[in-house]
Amino acid sequence: KLFNEVQELKGNIRVYCRVRPFLPGQDKKSTTIDYMGENGELLISNPFKQGKDGHRMFKFNKVFNPFASQAEVFSDIQPLIRSVLDGFNVCIFAYGQTGSGKTYTMSGPSTSKQDWGVNYRALNDLFDISLSRRNAFSYEVGVQMVEIYNEQVRDLLSNDIAQRRLGIWSTSQPNGLVVPDASLHPVKSTSDVLDLMEIGQANRAVGSTALNERSSRSHSILTVHVRGLDLKSGSTSRGCLHLIDLAGSERVEKSEVTGDRLKEAQYINKSLSALGDVIFALAQKSAHVPYRNSKLTQVLQSSLGGQAKTLMFVQINPDVESYSETISTLKFAERVS
Ligand code: ADP
Ligand code: MG
Repeated sequence: KLFNEVQELKGNIRVYCRVRPFLPGQDKKSTTIDYMGENGELLISNPFKQGKDGHRMFKFNKVFNPFASQAEVFSDIQPLIRSVLDGFNVCIFAYGQTGSGKTYTMSGPSTSKQDWGVNYRALNDLFDISLSRRNAFSYEVGVQMVEIYNEQVRDLLSNDIAQRRLGIWSTSQPNGLVVPDASLHPVKSTSDVLDLMEIGQANRAVGSTALNERSSRSHSILTVHVRGLDLKSGSTSRGCLHLIDLAGSERVEKSEVTGDRLKEAQYINKSLSALGDVIFALAQKSAHVPYRNSKLTQVLQSSLGGQAKTLMFVQINPDVESYSETISTLKFAERVS
């Protein structure tokens, strides 16, 4: 019985590693990656240590090597995404230091179809399936997009600037879901989604310096709500998919930053550790799951734990200069997997 429970749990929390390629102009020889196995093994070598102490093995549910295409990555997680149509709640995270490929995995480097990341592919797939089932089911799809910056939640799709800052949580959903009171936008096609994402990205940039900088210091959450109606029996289902591009996990030396930058770093650190603590507690089947320690875990509370499924992409920059960040990323992953 215990074994079954453990197995079940393993099915609910999955950790995938994705190693990004070197970018044009980077020295291909100086990598920390020694070996990527078929069964999720990742061997890292320490550029400062020789011999057997200089290597560390990590194990994931899967490792995607630098040549894995967006389509390959997606096909692996497709069943998970489709489970949303059956009423499951799913969270998919991208975790890693800035520049490790989080946004590449979640959104893609451009909006052209072959570049699409998980978010566009997921919605496109949900629309395809709902079309193919239209004689038996009717699905309604709606999206929300929020950003969490310095422990403040902002609605990225609200037209009204004054409404963007969210403090209120609606807890009165029929299925007990706690969701941020962000505007919910019905979508019927992938092009509707592309339009909304563009608005969201534009709103993200408001009042900040470079968009890239801001996006590396905030969490962005795209939430897809799906309501299904079984046309024959009249029964309904609700599922929810959260796609989360996390803030960069890099540590900053307290001595190196001050003021706003230090505050940002502290908020990021706090929320990422809160996320780690929640997933760890769930994996341990702990009686107390500390959801309340960050806005991130509060927003996602109803979709973390219980019947919900969680997938984390752990993003790795193969460069030797990233060695210590890579190790700290992998340690985070080790704890939650
Ligand atoms: P992050 O969002 O973690 O800061 P990005 O997704 O912006 O990182 O990726 C950093 C750079 O690396 C970008 O130029 C991106 O296009 C590139 N990149 C990341 N992952 C891949 C990949 N798997 N294949 C090709 N280029 C990638
Ligand atoms: Mg990014």
